[in-house]
Amino acid sequence: MQTHFSAAQLADSGVAEAEKILRKCVHCGFCTATCPTYVTLGNELDSPRGRIYLIKDMLENDRPADEQIVKHVDRCLSCLACMTTCPSGVHYMHLVDHARAHIEKTYKRPVLNRLNRAMLAWVLPFPERFRLALNLARFARPFAGLFKRMPGLQPVGAMLDLAPDRIAPREMQVEKGTYTAAGKTAGRVAILAGCAQSVLEPDTNAAAIRLFNRLNVEVVVPAGEGCCGSLVHHMGREEQALASARRNVDVWMREVGNGGLDAIIITASGCGTTIKDYGYMLRDDPLYAEKAATVSALAKDVTEYLATLEMPAPVIETGLSVAYHSACSLQHGQKITRQPKDLLKAAGFDVREPAEGHLCCGSAGTYNIMQSEIALSLRDRKVGNIEATGADLVAAGNVGCLTQIAQGSGLPVVHTVKLLDWAYGGPKPEELRGISEKV
Ligand code: SF4
Ligand code: SF4
Repeated sequence: MQTHFSAAQLADSGVAEAEKILRKCVHCGFCTATCPTYVTLGNELDSPRGRIYLIKDMLENDRPADEQIVKHVDRCLSCLACMTTCPSGVHYMHLVDHARAHIEKTYKRPVLNRLNRAMLAWVLPFPERFRLALNLARFARPFAGLFKRMPGLQPVGAMLDLAPDRIAPREMQVEKGTYTAAGKTAGRVAILAGCAQSVLEPDTNAAAIRLFNRLNVEVVVPAGEGCCGSLVHHMGREEQALASARRNVDVWMREVGNGGLDAIIITASGCGTTIKDYGYMLRDDPLYAEKAATVSALAKDVTEYLATLEMPAPVIETGLSVAYHSACSLQHGQKITRQPKDLLKAAGFDVREPAEGHLCCGSAGTYNIMQSEIALSLRDRKVGNIEATGADLVAAGNVGCLTQIAQGSGLPVVHTVKLLDWAYGGPKPEELRGISEKV
């Protein structure tokens, strides 16, 4: 695609990167076929190619964002299916991230939209605030329908619908510290405690730590780390996201200096995609560029790292069939597709792959709150495909997908690592208490 940026515009590193990305697009439109919003809404402006044109026009003309571009960029899930499909290697993720930051700087959103977004950015990345909000949501839930009918307050209704009935006690969150290997130490990793996942699914990291320790890998949960910044990054709040990235880089580099790390393990793949991009996000920061690149190179999804270890024979045979839901951040963002399925198969599960596995479940960070109608339509499509496999349960590697699918399906929905921990000697996941092994 031809572009027309001035030398002054290209002096800005973000614009220069955007220009390089835009020039790679050859308008072929292959990406439209796998874009969930185009498939759902059928509007070219809700396709990757349509958004690319809108972003190009805004950046090239140095225009502030307007209502039309905000509408169509907000509807993008950042699922990155378009990047998997694109034959020209268009890095849509970096382009849309830059567009979102530009929108945040140049567009004044309607007041309720601004308030909803500010509330999400203030609550979700902080476990204690999030826990408090979930407790309050339980009391407000009867009013969800009312909120959903009030213009501008639909996100509050969607949030109340998503809040779980039961919140795991604080004591279930993994403590900071070092968890030693069962035998002779064969490796040392740090694990991201995370923000929303540590409240919604604290047993995921506990399962990963148990499993690693049994495989003779020492795990450290370092003091000082926090949210990866992904939630605010996708809202265009660049400075807040970069501050989170710098804080985590400092913490993990301290661990690299204190005994070394073979990997930084992430059990929520949405976070993993962002951490693997820290090197790019901080490329212009002379104090952090190199350290951030080191952290990104060390970042590994839990299944990506487990696949490099020698696994023993499973301790139990369950005979259960598992519909594996491949989170977009894992399959499109990190190109990890084979490892989770191979690990589940080696652990004795009958792995089934739902149709349309490339399509997003509609979770996508805060998307199912801010764009709840599209998110619900995608969720129902995903659940229909999952249930058509006839599997006994669902496995996925991202807390957002687990919450979204569980809300629409009667099947148990379990993090992949909890199933692996169970098969290799850990406790049976709580979600499976109504299900018996078949052998
Ligand atoms: S990231 Fe997903 S929703 Fe956004 S344009 Fe690409 S395929 Fe479509
Ligand atoms: S598939 Fe790639 S090159 Fe083709 S229109 Fe989409 S982004 Fe552009």
